Amino acid sequence: MGIVKDCKICGKPFHTMSNSTTEDLCRTCWMNNKQDIAIRRSENKQNNVILSIERRIDALERFDVPFQVEMKVNTMLQHMMPTDLEKMFNDKLDKYLMQHEKKLRELREKQQKQISILHTRIQELEKEVESLYG
Ligand SMILES: [Zn+2]
Repeated sequence: MGIVKDCKICGKPFHTMSNSTTEDLCRTCWMNNKQDIAIRRSENKQNNVILSIERRIDALERFDVPFQVEMKVNTMLQHMMPTDLEKMFNDKLDKYLMQHEKKLRELREKQQKQISILHTRIQELEKEVESLYG
């Protein structure tokens, strides 16, 4: 069973599995070769994955976000009538003034409260002084 051949890789003689065969590698070299192919295949697979990720990153980097936003704002502004812009600005201004008016009013109320407290305290002190020296 089998014939003796010289291994194509290591040159050592080896027994083939059958008489009619295309085997030309010894068992060891055949296993090594098989592993090499498997490793090469998985390396190729990994390379392909990495390549596809790199391509996607490239595409993302080419997608210039600030530029896109600028373009969007530009088209939006182009489609807006000047009156719209004025209205938008006025609305913003109104809101701003309202907020600040509220803050100012609150501040004034706080001050008035403090003044009234001070006033009461002064009156109390005056009474004390009066009772002492009056
Ligand atoms: Zn061999």
